[in-house]
Formats: sequence, C-alpha cells, structure tokens
Amino acid sequence: MRLCNQYELPIVPQGGLTGLSGGAVPVSGGVALSTDRMSGIISVDPDNFCLTAWAGTPLETVQNAAREFGLEYPVDIGARGSATVGGTIATNAGGIRVIRHGMTRQHVLGLEVVLADGTVLSNLRSMIKDNAGYDLKQIFIGSEGTLGIVTRAVLKLCPAPTQRNTALLGLADYASGLACLGSARRSFEAQLTAFEGMWPYYWDLATSMKLSGRAPLKGGHGLYVLLETSGHDLAAFEEWLAECFESGLVEDGAIAQSLSDINDFWSVREAIGEVDHVIGPHLNFDIGLQPSALGEFVSVCEAALTDLATGPTLYVGHIGDGNLHVIVPVREHSNDYVWEIENRVFGILSEREGTVTAEHGVGLLKRDWLNRTRRPEEIQLMRHLKSCLDPKSLLNPGKVIPT
Ligand SMILES: Cc1cc2nc3c(=O)[nH]c(=O)nc-3n(C[C@H](O)[C@H](O)[C@H](O)COP(=O)(O)OP(=O)(O)OC[C@H]3O[C@@H](n4cnc5c(N)ncnc54)[C@H](O)[C@@H]3O)c2cc1C
Repeated sequence: MRLCNQYELPIVPQGGLTGLSGGAVPVSGGVALSTDRMSGIISVDPDNFCLTAWAGTPLETVQNAAREFGLEYPVDIGARGSATVGGTIATNAGGIRVIRHGMTRQHVLGLEVVLADGTVLSNLRSMIKDNAGYDLKQIFIGSEGTLGIVTRAVLKLCPAPTQRNTALLGLADYASGLACLGSARRSFEAQLTAFEGMWPYYWDLATSMKLSGRAPLKGGHGLYVLLETSGHDLAAFEEWLAECFESGLVEDGAIAQSLSDINDFWSVREAIGEVDHVIGPHLNFDIGLQPSALGEFVSVCEAALTDLATGPTLYVGHIGDGNLHVIVPVREHSNDYVWEIENRVFGILSEREGTVTAEHGVGLLKRDWLNRTRRPEEIQLMRHLKSCLDPKSLLNPGKVIPT
C-alpha cells in the first residue's frame, strides 16, 4: 500500500468476487489486491462470544468455526462458500437473518484496516461497549473498499439455536403477507429469524428447478412466504400456524419435518442465484422500502415495466427487512435502454423514499443513481470523508461516489 501510494497506483480490493454491484471490478493501470491468501481463523474466544479472522476467510469457514463451540455467526448469504469476511464487511452484507440479527455492521467488534498511505489502523479489541470517541470502524464497514483495506476482524458470535422451525406458506396476496409478518413478529418477537417472500412467477420457476415435482405447496397463490423461528418449541409454532389458517390469513402451508426439508425449503428461496441463468439477459435490482410499501411497489413497478421488460419480472426477497430483489428480463444491455428501465424503477423508489440498494452496495452499477437515495449534502460529506482518508483517490477509484 505504501508503494502504491508512492507511485500513485490505484488499488481495487478483491475478496471472493461474489459482489453484485461491480465494486471489485479492477481499473485500468491499477492493482487488483486479492485477499485470497490472507485467509484463516486466528482465534475463537467462546467465553467472550467472539472470533478473530483474516479478511480473506470465507464466510462459511467462520460459520463452521463458531459451530464447533456451539456458537453461531448469524450473518448468512447464499454466497457463503466464496464471500469473504473482508468482502462482507466492505459491503455490510445483510442476508437471510437480518430481521433477527441485523446486518454485518452489528457483528463487527474490532477491525484492522490499512489506509491508502499504508498506515495500519488496528483495533482488534472485542468489547461490546466502548464509547471512547468516534467509532472509527463503522466508517469502513460498508465503504466498499473506497476508504481502506480490511485485513482482520473480530466478529461477534451468538449461541447456536437449539431448535429451528421452518415453514413455507401460500397466501392470497401481499396484504395477507404483511398481516402474517405482523402476527409472527408479535408472537415470536426476537425469535423470528427469517421472513422471506416470493412472488408467483419466481416461485413457479424456482420450484420447477429445485423440487422436481416434490413441491410442498400446490401453487396458485398470490404470495409465498418462507418463515423461520429459532429457539421456539415446535408446538407453539404449530399453534400459531393453526391460528393463521383459522383466521384465513394463510391458504396453505407446510412445516419442515427434517433437516432435508429445511434445506429443500431454503433451496427454493436461494435459487435466485440460478434462475438468473435461466431467464437470459436481465437487470438485477436490490431495492429497499418499508415492508408495508412493498406490495404497492410491485404493482406500480409491474405496470411501469410492461413495455420494456421482455418477460415477467421476478420479485423475491427479505420482505421482513423491506428488501426486495427485482429481476427484470431485458432484450439487451444497451445504455439508453438500461437507463430507461433503471430510471423508472428508481423513480418509483425515490417517490416513496426508498433506497436504490438495500444490501448489495453501490459499487459501480448504482453509483450514478446515488442521488435518488441520498441528499446532495450527504454525498458531499461522503466526498469530504473520501478525500480526507484517501487524498490521491487511489482506493477503488470511481466506485460508490458519483464523479
Ligand atoms: C448468490 C448470492 C447471494 C447473495 N446474497 C446476499 C444477501 O442475501 N445479502 C447481502 O447483503 N448480499 C448478498 N450477496 C452479495 C454479497 O454482499 C456479496 O457477495 C459479499 O458480501 C461480497 O463478498 P466478497 O468477498 O465476494 O467481496 P467482493 O465481491 O470480492 O468485493 C465486494 C466489494 O468489497 C470490496 N472488498 C472486498 N474485500 C475487501 C477488503 N478486504 N477490504 C476492503 N474492501 C474489500 C471490493 O472492492 C468490492 O467493492 C449475494 C451474492 C451472491 C452471489
């Protein structure tokens, strides 16, 4: 880093290269800095519920190391086998259990970062409470490699759940889904660990790919929900579901009876990484709104894209967190055509005070739309921060902040 600073060479940090916003795309004439060999668990501290790892450690390795001590690292994403500690910190990854555990930001106790001039900023303390001045690590979490290179991190763990209850539900429409979310939140409180929604076209495609005739629900519903609670006994879960049936909130449902069922249920939700390949050219949005606004957003978006999309748009996501993935089939990736689609989607979002990226980050792909989510003063402050920490603009130049 010191040499790059001296010779003014741009540096693009790269972890597992699973990011979905183009944040790790190298720049011409620059250095691509891979953390591939900076990998491994440094220590697990079960007494203090934390673990220290190198930045290039795959997320799954962290999860497995915690499990050996009866603990859990609850940040979990479909790309767990390749995504790294550094990459998930740099993108403040969310994932499937945010409704219960929050995003990566909530799980970083200590961080070591190398600044653009080579200065090592190391704070690998593992205290939960530390109010001594600015919490500097938070500036780097979610900064997508534009402010510093993450090299090591202390991650907060929690007890591994003794019981997981997973169900797939078929509902009439989004309004029922929202009522079901409210009911599950009130009944299970913090033990509600996932509330994922799948709209019909996504469901049909994903189940045909993943369950080959063994789909636990018949289909024909307006919305499908994958719901998970942790630490709750099965009887209470069944009782809640029975009440949902009786009140007409849920049309059909199945509770996982085995680990294989749980994996099958989740495989439908996580097929998002594969349906991508089936539908041909497409644009991938990762929008965020209040959960109560998502149903209307989908209807407005459907109407707005009819003359542009080449087929039905897929809607699937973490509806408990107000985060929806919108996959729009397109005929080509020409600039004007893509711009028009993005402009319509982000226009709808901006009118509703939503965000252009709820978890994937800005990177390159959302950079020029940042002003649909952030006010000019906020973007200006981001520029100030960047120039303070990286005055020569060498760290991941051209990413996140609009030029
Ligand atoms: C199938 C699939 C499912 C996903 N599901 C989710 C999900 O549910 N929730 C979610 O939030 N995200 C999800 N993602 C996206 C996820 O945020 C990223 O894949 C992941 O966090 C990036 O980790 P990575 O190691 O692959 O980083 P990379 O892709 O290599 O890099 C991502 C960004 O981080 C920077 N970076 C990487 N390492 C460092 C470092 N050591 N220091 C500083 N900067 C660094 C890069 O420059 C780049 O800007 C998913 C991706 C896939 C492919």
